[in-house]
Amino acid sequence: MKYKTLKGLQDILPPDISVWQHIESTAKNIFKNYGYQEIRLPLMESTDVFIRSIGETSDIVEKEMYTFQDKGKRSVTLRPEGTASFVRAYVEHHIYNDPAPQKFYYMGPMFRYERPQAFRYRQFYQIGVEAMGIDDPKLDAEIISMLSSILGSIGLEGLNFEVTSIGCASCRPDYKTALKKHLSGKLDEFCSDCRRRYDANPLRILDCKVPSCIESRKGAPPVLDFLCKECKDHFDGLRKYLELLKVPHTINPSLVRGLDYYTKTAFEVSSENLGSQSAVAAGGRYDGMVREFGGPPTPGIGFAIGMERIIPLIKDSADGNKGPDLFFCLLTEEAAEKALILAEQLRAGGMRVEMNHEQTSLRSQMRKANRMGAAHVIVLGEDELKSGEIAIKYMTDGKTKRSSLQADEIQKIIKN
Ligand code: ATP
Ligand code: MG
Repeated sequence: MKYKTLKGLQDILPPDISVWQHIESTAKNIFKNYGYQEIRLPLMESTDVFIRSIGETSDIVEKEMYTFQDKGKRSVTLRPEGTASFVRAYVEHHIYNDPAPQKFYYMGPMFRYERPQAFRYRQFYQIGVEAMGIDDPKLDAEIISMLSSILGSIGLEGLNFEVTSIGCASCRPDYKTALKKHLSGKLDEFCSDCRRRYDANPLRILDCKVPSCIESRKGAPPVLDFLCKECKDHFDGLRKYLELLKVPHTINPSLVRGLDYYTKTAFEVSSENLGSQSAVAAGGRYDGMVREFGGPPTPGIGFAIGMERIIPLIKDSADGNKGPDLFFCLLTEEAAEKALILAEQLRAGGMRVEMNHEQTSLRSQMRKANRMGAAHVIVLGEDELKSGEIAIKYMTDGKTKRSSLQADEIQKIIKN
C-alpha cells in the first residue's frame, strides 16, 4: 500500500462512527440542561499560549507538543488540550463581562507527540467543558456530577471518581518546600527528569510514570496536609456537596495533574477495564489562568473526556448503522430517470432512499438491497412505467403492497 495514516493517528469509520455520534449527542443534550454552550476554537495557537499555561516543565510542553514554524516564521503549535485555547478566547473576547458562570463546551481533536499504544494516540478527541467566574465549590460539585451523568448516560460502569485539592498560589510554596525536604535525601533514586524537576518544579515528580520514581516517592507528604484555610474550606465544601448530590467518589490525596495551571479542586475518572491507560476523564480548577492571560482575576473550572478511552468501554452502540428505508431496483434507463425524481421527492419527505446505479441483473440488485439492509424495495421497469402501478416489497417478510407511482402514496404506505 502506498499511503497509510501517520503513526498514532486513526481513521474513524462506520459502523464505529455511530458510537461516536451517540456519545456526542448524549453529551450535548446534557450540556443543554446545565446551560453549556458550544465554542469552536482553532486547532492551532501561538506556541506561547500553551507554554505559559500548561507550564514549561510539564510533560506536554517538554515532550509532547507538535510545534513548528509557519511560513511567516511564527512558532505555532497544534493544540495539545483545550483549556489554554479556551482561556485565550475568553480573554480575547471579554467573555468575563457576561453574567457568571459562563459555561462552554467543545468537542474535537487534540495533538500530542506521545508513544502510541492502546488507548493512547497522537491525535485524539476530547469532549471538554469550562465554567468561568464562580469560585463556589457548589459549581465544582455540579460539574463533577454532570460528568458522572454523561458517563452514566452513555452506559459506562465500573468507573472510579477520584477527587482532591492541590492548593493555590499561597499554600503551594510551603508544600513545595516540605516536598523538597522530604525528597532531598534520596534524590539519586529518581530518574534524570525528576532530578531536574526537583529544582524546576518539584510537584512534577509526583506525576512521573517511571516505576522506580513511583516507588521512591511513596511516603511523600500529600498536598492535602498543607492546604491554607481558604483551600481547606473550599475542599470541605466540595466534599459536602458531592455527598449531597450522592456522586460516588473517593478522596485521593496523591492525585496530581500533568498541567501546571490547576488550583484547588482536581479530579480524575478512571476505569478498571483499560489497563495502564486508565484515565477516561480529568479536570480541575484553574483560578489563576485568566489573569495570566491578561484578563481580570477570574476563577475557572473544567474537565475533558478522552473519547478513545470511552469508546471501547461501550458495549452496544445505540442506533447502529441502519440501512435505507427504500431501495429502487431499476430495469431500464427510463425507469432510472423516474426513480431519480421519486428518490428526491421521498428524501424531501424525510425518507432515506437509495437507488441502483449499475447495469446489473435484478437478482444482483436485490442482493445489494439486502446487503445494504434496505427495509423496502421497489422494482421499476417498462411495465410499471406504463401502468403507473408498482409493488412495494417489505424485506423483513417478503410481502408486497400495491401503490401508484406517486411519491406521497409510496411515503404514506412505507411510513405506516
Ligand atoms: P494520561 O495520564 O493518560 O497521559 P493526561 O493526564 O495526559 O492523561 P489530560 O491532559 O488530563 O490527560 O487529558 C484528559 C483526558 O484525555 C485523559 O483523561 C484521557 O482520557 C485523554 N487523553 C489524554 N492523552 C491522550 C492520548 N494521547 N490518547 C488518547 N486519549 C488521551
Ligand atoms: Mg499524558
